[in-house]
Amino acid sequence: SLAFDVHAIRRDFPILNQEINGKPLVYLDNGASAQKPLAVLDAMDRYYREMHSNVHRGAHTLGDRATAAFEGARETVRKFLNAPETREILWTRGTTEAINLVANGLAPRLNAGDEILVSHMEHHANIVPWQMVAERTGAKVIPIQVTPDGDLDLDSFNSLLNDRTRILAITHVSNVLGTINPIASLIEQAKKQGVLTLIDGAQAVPHFQPDVQALGCDFYAFSSHKLFGPTGIGVLYGRAELLEEMPPYQGGGEMIERVSFERTTWNVLPYKFEAGTPAIAEAVGLGAAIEYLNALDRKAMEAAENTLLKRANELVDTVPGMEVIGTSRHKVPVMSFKISGLHPSDLGTLLDQQGIAIRTGHHCAMPLMDFYGVPGTARASFAFYNTLDEVETLFAGLQKIQRLFA
Ligand code: PMP
Repeated sequence: SLAFDVHAIRRDFPILNQEINGKPLVYLDNGASAQKPLAVLDAMDRYYREMHSNVHRGAHTLGDRATAAFEGARETVRKFLNAPETREILWTRGTTEAINLVANGLAPRLNAGDEILVSHMEHHANIVPWQMVAERTGAKVIPIQVTPDGDLDLDSFNSLLNDRTRILAITHVSNVLGTINPIASLIEQAKKQGVLTLIDGAQAVPHFQPDVQALGCDFYAFSSHKLFGPTGIGVLYGRAELLEEMPPYQGGGEMIERVSFERTTWNVLPYKFEAGTPAIAEAVGLGAAIEYLNALDRKAMEAAENTLLKRANELVDTVPGMEVIGTSRHKVPVMSFKISGLHPSDLGTLLDQQGIAIRTGHHCAMPLMDFYGVPGTARASFAFYNTLDEVETLFAGLQKIQRLFA
């Protein structure tokens, strides 16, 4: 039995309580986007009903309320990441924009022949922005190899880290494999060589809380919508010293100190990187999501998630021809798989007919698909609100599909 009351938790997520194709919804696509608790919906609703106005204008009471809610959420995020200073927390549209912002901001430091280390298991969001900046600067993007089990190949990392390396940009957790990378030691080694580090935390934060000071990374990015908050907003933590030195990402209102046709100067952090009217209600919603999580027993939550993964692993043998891709011993509850004789996209459709939502395809990780020699995989990704019954339902569904169609 699970160590915390998952049925009570599920009452906080009204979307989970519905039928799809005549069957109770089993939502196992949390890695793509997670569902939102009532606390988030209520916070955003209340924001729009009672306090909406533009922020940082200071001319009237509503503007002050909106600003307080917006900046309060930033402080909630700072505490969540244990960042030293609130001005080191930038709002972005998501992980993707956060990484683009950093790649653009570090471009002036890069010269021809410099090397940017990524890994073979990155999401496209942590490959393509670096390729674009490499194109501009003559730097090279070099992938750290992955082992067949889906772990980062540490020998490959050690042999690739050298005096041309400028940046290590790596995911904390793989969205396909679920692997938790040993980023603390990678960061430590990178720092010894003066290499800057960016961690893609998109798939980590829904499962555990990172501590950017303990990790010692320079940048840490994540998306609200995977952390049970709204879409349209995400976070970049960056060390103040680096953010100060980096050029702005976009120009416009809010990000300036003074504009004239002779000379324009930049606003202080974090506003220098926040051109235009921000996603205010979304920031408030993300703050509410983090506060919701803070009120839960996160240790019990992690234990419950591990129980789900353990049960899923036990059931793999009950589906003939099923093979799991990503068998690291250090992983979050994500299971990518294939079943011989079945195309992943057919698997997705057939499961949906039984009310079960999973993701199929390349998961924005085409280099990793190439490494495993597959066009795509099926992926079940669990959240703390999933139950053991749902794991059983998934496997009963897979057994049925395998019997009828494989
Ligand atoms: N990195 C990883 C590891 C991801 O899983 C995702 C989302 N699938 C992203 C980056 C991109 O996040 P977003 O689309 O929210 O910007």
